[in-house]
Amino acid sequence: MAKKRVKVDQGLCIGCGCCAGTYPDDFQIGDSGLAEVVTGEGEEEAVSVCPVGAISVEE
Ligand code: SF4
Repeated sequence: MAKKRVKVDQGLCIGCGCCAGTYPDDFQIGDSGLAEVVTGEGEEEAVSVCPVGAISVEE
């Protein structure tokens, strides 16, 4: 599973923590209580763990 550039739309994120809980190397919950991408890259499958569609892959 190759990592791809991913981003979090913080306007959509509800801070549920699913992404950080499932992929702690790729996502963290920041001071704002919303998810941030740790390195700028993440597993493509992380898109499907977000219940509100806030995670997307940058092509
Ligand atoms: S799974 Fe989605 S809504 Fe939940 S913290 Fe991550 S980006 Fe935000």
